[in-house]
Amino acid sequence: MAKRPEIVRDVAGLRKLVAGWRRSGRRIALVPTMGALHDGHLALIAAARRHADRVVVSIFVNPTQFAPHEDFDAYPRDEAGDIARAQTAKASAVYAPGMAAMYSDAFATRIDVAGVSQGLCGASRPHHFAGVATVVTKLLLQALPDVALFGEKDYQQLMVVRRLVADLDIPVDIIGVPTLREADGLAMSSRNARLTPEERAVAPVLHRILEALADDLARGRVIDEALAQGRSDLALAGFRLDYLEVREAVGLTPVEGLVAGPARLLAAAHLGRVRLIDNVPVRLRNPQDDPPAGRRQVAGGFRVGGQ
Ligand code: AMP
Repeated sequence: MAKRPEIVRDVAGLRKLVAGWRRSGRRIALVPTMGALHDGHLALIAAARRHADRVVVSIFVNPTQFAPHEDFDAYPRDEAGDIARAQTAKASAVYAPGMAAMYSDAFATRIDVAGVSQGLCGASRPHHFAGVATVVTKLLLQALPDVALFGEKDYQQLMVVRRLVADLDIPVDIIGVPTLREADGLAMSSRNARLTPEERAVAPVLHRILEALADDLARGRVIDEALAQGRSDLALAGFRLDYLEVREAVGLTPVEGLVAGPARLLAAAHLGRVRLIDNVPVRLRNPQDDPPAGRRQVAGGFRVGGQ
């Protein structure tokens, strides 16, 4: 049985713990989360253990990244379960600050990352990435880790964090971890638990469609045409689309025409009350390798009734 992680609740406690490790020459990783830990989070902790000797998992449901109509109050919270899962994953410490430890009444600072925060999730959630950037900056400066790990599942967030760390000269390596998926391809997410059984059966179609489109794009299919088919396949399967876009892989600038360099296909779509996000790389291939892509059926036979 792994050792129970140390539990720290304020910045002073965290700094003391980390400073002790540092004095004995340990390398330190931070894995920021909002709790409700699932196997995707545990994959981040496992990756962190490969990059560092001590792993701090932070658990803080950050109110400033939720809009008033979003699910801050309903966001799943299970601290005891999270600590048990962090222990199984061999985390060294759980940093679970209270609200007052993070935001004093006088708190007045906001980190706004232009460019990468715009469009995609930033379009429908205009204050989201400023909330994320601000809390991640705080967590990095509180823990002062050598490395911090973020999931590619939240790809735009990963790019926002990379940008702010470079711009603010924060001395930490940011490591992106590939998305952990259920056996049927659905990206693991705390919000999946809120899908009805009917919606859960349809949910993996999102990833299936993204993979098929990314493959078409890699073989030289025109972006507009591929995206039009993707939008119609998603609607047919029962999704209410927020966005489906091809972006340049690092700066996230829109890509038009044909994919010619590193690119990412990203989507957000609602199934009932749940908003799902997912993304996949577009891996360019030699056009001689395969025949050109024709229209193909990728949506499968599932459809959610009444959407
Ligand atoms: P969250 O608790 O949802 O804020 O997520 C905390 C971290 O876990 C973020 O860096 C996420 O990108 C990452 N994460 C969430 N789900 C997954 C997943 N299925 N695979 C890999 N990383 C994930």
